[in-house]
Amino acid sequence: MIYNPQKYAIADERMKPFIDENEIHDILNNTQPTKEQVREVIAKSLNKNRLSMHETAMLVNTTDPELIEEIKQGAKTLKEKVYGKRIVLFAPLYVGNYCTNNCKYCGFRTTNRKQVRTTLSDEQLIREVEALEENGQKRLILVYGEHPKYNAQFIADSVRTVYKVKKGNGEIRRVNINAAPMDIDDYKTVLEAGIGTYQIFQETYHKETYHSVHLAGKKADFDYRLTGLDRAQEAGIDDVGIGALFGLYDWRFELLSLIRHVNHFEACYNVGPHTISFPRIKDASEYDIDDKYKVSDEDFTKLVAILRLAVPYTGLILTAREPENIRREIMSFGVSQIDGGTKIEMGAYSKKEETQNLDKEQFKINDNRSLGEIIDELLENDYIPSFCTACYRTGRTGQHFMEFSVPGFIKKYCTPNAMLTLAEYMEDYATPEVKEKGEMVIKKNLDEMDNDKIKENLLERLNKVKNGERDLYF
Ligand code: SF4
Repeated sequence: MIYNPQKYAIADERMKPFIDENEIHDILNNTQPTKEQVREVIAKSLNKNRLSMHETAMLVNTTDPELIEEIKQGAKTLKEKVYGKRIVLFAPLYVGNYCTNNCKYCGFRTTNRKQVRTTLSDEQLIREVEALEENGQKRLILVYGEHPKYNAQFIADSVRTVYKVKKGNGEIRRVNINAAPMDIDDYKTVLEAGIGTYQIFQETYHKETYHSVHLAGKKADFDYRLTGLDRAQEAGIDDVGIGALFGLYDWRFELLSLIRHVNHFEACYNVGPHTISFPRIKDASEYDIDDKYKVSDEDFTKLVAILRLAVPYTGLILTAREPENIRREIMSFGVSQIDGGTKIEMGAYSKKEETQNLDKEQFKINDNRSLGEIIDELLENDYIPSFCTACYRTGRTGQHFMEFSVPGFIKKYCTPNAMLTLAEYMEDYATPEVKEKGEMVIKKNLDEMDNDKIKENLLERLNKVKNGERDLYF
């Protein structure tokens, strides 16, 4: 049976629910690719072309170990082509865990009486940001439960407070948001505070499953959440992040749904999401999910490689939910952003909390290394740790970002900017050992540079950083 996309087309699906489960099951059940077809799809992606849902399903339904290895190798090659060796670093900062929703996989769920509820005061927020800046962080994502306390004005005010905190050479240059869906006017309030990406995870795109795990509160409304980032785009937020919580339903269905979501944005707003996140369910206080759809490490690494090939220009975010070994393996497949030195208890950065208490946190994290340890490992593996925020601050976001990144120009900017932010980190925060490794990585990448003009400019700016200047970028 030939898959016919027109059969499922929705006229002008802006702010309309767009997931058709029959379409996704149809594709998954009717796609049995040959070896040649799988190799053609990988080759298409390596030419930096987006993959259709049908082509993505070909990779998803591939079970031949040899071909799966080719998929992973293809993802590695594509990552090098589009992103070079840089890995962008950020830290999550939980602001408040009051929540009126009842999500069965979350420690913050409203029925969890064991959860210690906290909202950071301005003073506490400032202390947290100072502690993060003292570690060398430059990019944060602020996280909030869904509660009337955390309305648009509260979120906007907390973003402004974060940007005002300066500690030595420390400053936060980009603040992303992970919060509940809003109405258009509320998004405008948050946008005016100068946010970067607005992230909303659908958690699961399978409606029946969605309703079985979201038992109460506004989050129980599947369609309002699904169209949440449409309203953000309508409000002028063209930098959005999507995601699914893998382990709630069949990962193959969720993966194709994420691609369908990307198609939706491109069709309606002429730009895909800035980032895709693919968290796997982890232990949490009062956690109540059976592991019927638990995703194995083998399938997880495969799905990330497929995502990389399917959406070459969308940032992929891998968090400290995953343990070191999984992070190490997956990073080579095309992850572009990771968190480092992560603590998710409210107030834990300034209190230097070392142990996790799930009755004060949303879920269990499995990579508790400090930012310095993560940077050390990145340099050991020839990556360039980056705190770059240049695109965001020069207006290269949304459609403009795509115009810039698609032809591959971004590599000409990403790598030099990554090296400039690394040089800052080495001057202000690195141990002598890490600084030495950083200098070797910078020298190696300078030697590999084929554009003398940029190389000359970069060398000049690296010297300025050595002499105390900060925040230089292309
Ligand atoms: S997942 Fe989010 S909305 Fe659901 S209970 Fe947790 S904090 Fe609240």
